[in-house]
Formats: sequence, structure tokens, C-alpha cells
Amino acid sequence: MATETIFSKIIRKEIPSDILYQDELVTAFTDINPALPTHILIVPNEHIPTSSDVTAAHEAAMGRMHTVARKLAEQAGIAKDGYRLIINCGEHGRQEVMHIHMHLLGGADVGPMLVRQKAV
Ligand code: 5GP
Repeated sequence: MATETIFSKIIRKEIPSDILYQDELVTAFTDINPALPTHILIVPNEHIPTSSDVTAAHEAAMGRMHTVARKLAEQAGIAKDGYRLIINCGEHGRQEVMHIHMHLLGGADVGPMLVRQKAV
């Protein structure tokens, strides 16, 4: 089994965090280093390291992450103006915490999607 990360401790409430939502499949909490006025992480309760580890067995949790993101965006008052959902994967995706998570970012213009690379 892959090594758990700090997110498992947050989910189990073993360390303090600003949990905004939790159910039997997912947990959402405020990012410790917010990049925008609203920066929430939505994670499956089960430790799934990256998008590359997602299987059909995880479809319910993956879908729940999206519906919870929608609800939290409404709650945060950013739904009307829009927001960005991001899942980074692996080294090239610049994933830092190896527990799959969806970033919900908004409250201001998030900027261009990517800095374009020379080769593109
Ligand atoms: P990644 O680059 O893996 O997609 O994003 C990891 C995110 O997790 C970063 O935005 C970082 O600020 C956040 N993060 C890392 N450690 C903690 C923590 O202990 N608590 C919280 N709430 N967020 C964390």
C-alpha cells in the first residue's frame, strides 16, 4: 500500500485543519497556503495517490468530489463569477501531495490556464 500523506491525518481529524465538508466519501478543507481568496482542497477519504491510480471502483468518490466542489463554490459565493478546478498528477503535473486532490480556486480571476512552453 502506498504511504499515506498528511491529508489522511486531516481526514481522520488527527491534526487541526479547516474542514468545510465531510461525508462518507470525501473531505474538503481550506488550503494551508491559499493562492486565491478561495482555495479549497477536495479529497477522497480513501488514500488514492494520483489520477493514474484511479479505477472504476473510485468513480463514486471522484464524482462526489465534483458535486461537492460545485456546492462549496456556491457557498463561497464564487459560482456566479466562475472558478477553476485543478487536479495535478505526478512530476510533470507538479503534484506535491500524493493523495489525489481537487483544487477549487476562485474569488478573483485565476489567470491564464498555463504558461505556454516554447515547444507548443
Ligand atoms: P499539489 O501541488 O499537490 O496539487 O497541491 C498540494 C496543496 O496542498 C498545496 O496547495 C498546499 O498548499 C496544500 N497543502 C500541503 N500541506 C497541507 C496541509 O498540511 N494542510 C492543508 N490544508 N493544505 C496543505
